[in-house]
Amino acid sequence: MLNKIEHIGIAVKDLENSNALFAKLFGRNHYKIEQVLSEGVDTSFFQLGESKIELLSASSPESPIAKFIEKKGEGIHHIAFEVTDIVAEMKRLEGEGFKLLNEKPKKGADNKLICFVHPKSANGVLVELCQEIR
Ligand code: ZN
Repeated sequence: MLNKIEHIGIAVKDLENSNALFAKLFGRNHYKIEQVLSEGVDTSFFQLGESKIELLSASSPESPIAKFIEKKGEGIHHIAFEVTDIVAEMKRLEGEGFKLLNEKPKKGADNKLICFVHPKSANGVLVELCQEIR
């Protein structure tokens, strides 16, 4: 079971400019910036009540974010859902026929274990499962 929307990921070209833009939109500043080397991304996070917005920019030309922006332009990239037991959820979703993009959970930004579900198996939505690392 997916507990709730943990955050929404937005792909941007320039993290610094977008931090300023979204700070104006949300009326508050981001609370952290984090580089995720394994994913080739720089991220920043905004907290809005229970929900978060994650901005993602490519840190290298081979980054999946660079490819995403090239194909689709800037915009909503993924929706992340909080799960209690990511390994159990990955098994459950595989059993339901969803295609997972990684075999094992990996370390994501913001102290999370994450796994992505292929958008082709979810009506075009890139779904991220995330479990807090305790
Ligand atoms: Zn995310």
